[in-house]
Amino acid sequence: MFSPHHELPSFFSVEGNALLVAGIPLARVAEMAGGTPFYVYSRAAVKARLAALRAVLPPSVAVHYAVKANPMPALVGFMAAQVEGLDVASAGEMLLALNAGMAAEQVSFAGPGKTVAELRQAVAAGVLVHVESCREIGILAQVQEALGVGARVAVRVNPDFELKNAGMRMGGGAKPFGMDAETVPAALAEIAAAGLQFEGFHVFAGAQNLKAEAIMAAQEATLGLLERLAASAPAPVRVCNLGGGFGIPYFPGDTALDVEAVGQNMARLADWAARALPQARLVLELGRYLVGEAGLYVCRVLDRKVSRGQVFLVTDGGLHHHLAASGNFGQVLRKNYPVRIATKMRPDAPTETATVVGPLCTPLDVLADRMTLPVADEGDLVAVLQSGAYGASASPQAFLGHPPVHEVLL
Ligand SMILES: *Cc1c(COP(=O)(O)O)cnc(C)c1O
Repeated sequence: MFSPHHELPSFFSVEGNALLVAGIPLARVAEMAGGTPFYVYSRAAVKARLAALRAVLPPSVAVHYAVKANPMPALVGFMAAQVEGLDVASAGEMLLALNAGMAAEQVSFAGPGKTVAELRQAVAAGVLVHVESCREIGILAQVQEALGVGARVAVRVNPDFELKNAGMRMGGGAKPFGMDAETVPAALAEIAAAGLQFEGFHVFAGAQNLKAEAIMAAQEATLGLLERLAASAPAPVRVCNLGGGFGIPYFPGDTALDVEAVGQNMARLADWAARALPQARLVLELGRYLVGEAGLYVCRVLDRKVSRGQVFLVTDGGLHHHLAASGNFGQVLRKNYPVRIATKMRPDAPTETATVVGPLCTPLDVLADRMTLPVADEGDLVAVLQSGAYGASASPQAFLGHPPVHEVLL
């Protein structure tokens, strides 16, 4: 049995039994959205998160938003005005970022399997391509020639260290991402020979890290590595993208990242970079950390069933919209996301142990397993917190043929 373990973020409020976003009860947001299930994201929450982050970062560090965390077009448009750059991982995301109003100079394109067509689009658009292989260097040389437009490149480096305590490791050891650090000097020579416009480096070591010390150590090691690689660069390094990997708490026992400690350490790194790589701008690319806490997934209880003494709340929402909350996106052992009954918010509401499931015919479709929740009935709304990142776009919406999820930005 698990109890509700998560503080309600301060930008969501409670009035009587109702949970509100931007002052609007979720029952009314449901009417607005065209029904349940839906995701609702708070602009105020994203702004507050960015402001708090900038307050602890040295002013010279640029903050980018990684679009894959949440590519809702209205949210990307909102982010475009809040951050110094958008990081994309496909030509589709690239067009989304450009259509959202972000200048091409401030869009960077990473990803291990870029097609020739995507590389052509990227050069034509004038975005910064994070090259991840010699194949890409060769294609970019041809594309540059064919289009008569210079290809802007940064080298994505697979470092010779790992980010500790990361939920998802994406750097160090054998990886499909980036180019192994030891092969980078040769790649830089190819870039010079091909006449590509070299602008800098990118290292992304991992995601969902809650340990400040691990992030600080990775950033320090990254900067040291990039300083060494800069000696082989064909042009001054103008961008050092140190990745991100900042996590958010989801589960009982998770504690929020000490971002102040990371910021203090980055001030030291910024001083170091100013001496060692005087033309380089330090970049942090963050997805989950900027938007994850700003979103809720809301579904409605369709049925209340008791099976051999266990209460099941069967809802109209589930893993087809929110794979991560079901535990089937990157979790090893399933743990409950924080969940509320959004129409039974009074602190004195009677509680029970209930399991919240979705409508899909699979035992994987669980949103909360044996959690202490206010007693809920047909028609009540269930809200899953911490749902602003890796939700709608990271879920198998076609699975079982239910309608797609609505999304609202308030
Ligand atoms: C996924 C990804 C990100 C965003 O990761 P978060 O954990 O959401 O912050 C940033 N950079 C790259 C290269 C990525 O692949």
